[in-house]
Amino acid sequence: MTGTPAGEGTRAVRAGLPDPVNHEPTLPGPVFAAHFHLSGDPTGPYAYGRESNPTWTHLERAVGELEAPGEPVETVAFASGMAAISAVLMSQLRSGDTVVLPSDGYQALPLVHEQLRAWGITVRTAPTGGDAQLAVLDGARLLWIETPSNPGLDVCDIRRLTGAAHAAGALVAVDNTLATPLGQRPLALGADFSVASGTKGLTGHGDVLLGHVSCRDAGKAAEVRHWRKIVGAIPGPMEAWLAHRSLATLHLRSDRQSATALALAESLRRRAEVTGLRYPGLPGDPSHPVASRQMRRFGCVVSFVLPDRDHAERFLRALTLVDDATSFGGVRSTAERRRRWGGDDVPEGFIRFSVGAEDPEDLLADVARALDAAAH
Ligand SMILES: *Cc1c(COP(=O)(O)O)cnc(C)c1O
Repeated sequence: MTGTPAGEGTRAVRAGLPDPVNHEPTLPGPVFAAHFHLSGDPTGPYAYGRESNPTWTHLERAVGELEAPGEPVETVAFASGMAAISAVLMSQLRSGDTVVLPSDGYQALPLVHEQLRAWGITVRTAPTGGDAQLAVLDGARLLWIETPSNPGLDVCDIRRLTGAAHAAGALVAVDNTLATPLGQRPLALGADFSVASGTKGLTGHGDVLLGHVSCRDAGKAAEVRHWRKIVGAIPGPMEAWLAHRSLATLHLRSDRQSATALALAESLRRRAEVTGLRYPGLPGDPSHPVASRQMRRFGCVVSFVLPDRDHAERFLRALTLVDDATSFGGVRSTAERRRRWGGDDVPEGFIRFSVGAEDPEDLLADVARALDAAAH
């Protein structure tokens, strides 16, 4: 497709589609190939399946069109969100560099700290809320932002942090997993890399693991692509194709899930046993002022705290439309007691709730009934 349709829904349904060819499908099926016919010198796009695949190319174009509509941008797809995150950190940092990471980010980030330190990289951390990372930027090579943060749902000002980081000579990467490109566009807010797990809301059906990195600078994209090639953290063609197919409904899912998440947050605000309620779209939430400036949809995750572990477990068991499962962003609602993993610094009764695409009345009624049941 040439041209840039104005509407996000129009863009989502057409993103990354090849020009029409008679008797060919609209979205070509997955190409399963370890190698491609190749005679003579190895030139041209497709030679070996660890380096490139036409199904990835279509998906990468599609994600790029959503991350930076109408602008030249390169996207590299990965086997998982962690593969994408590691690719940026490990392709950009060298021994002796300093990196600033969030102290309240995704629970696998601390495992990455250990590896970075072992390679002689200095790791500094600060919380997401209040733009606290600003205070530790001095001398950094890379600033890593996660906003909204998972699972605490704090939000930082991407434009402000990016301006300060660039002035200090640091690159900026934003983990855009929770927002998805329809919720926020980090590259337009100044970031050098927009990185995300596609496992969550981007693909939205809880059936694939995937990740991506988008960036404007062709040289940096080449470094990330090279990292994928040497580490081999490549997406399967089937996963890449499923992801592309799912992008066509991203706007529908995001609109429904964000609207229901707000309704859920509003209903939880009226419950006496609920404390620590967080949703960036909720007026009055500490994240709301910054979130409303830089986000277009506030996402599907609502966090809150029930009085104790038993209370939270009774609540989860009493839900009938919500699966007790980790991850988030799927069309089927899930919730979990986050503390069970041990990693996040959250209370025992902390619930991370991922709102799905169910009818809002059904979901809210199920939650109200489960809260009532858990109270005794
Ligand atoms: C899930 C998640 C990741 C990791 O993604 P995987 O696809 O599970 O590797 C990274 N960042 C955030 C914010 C996440 O929620």
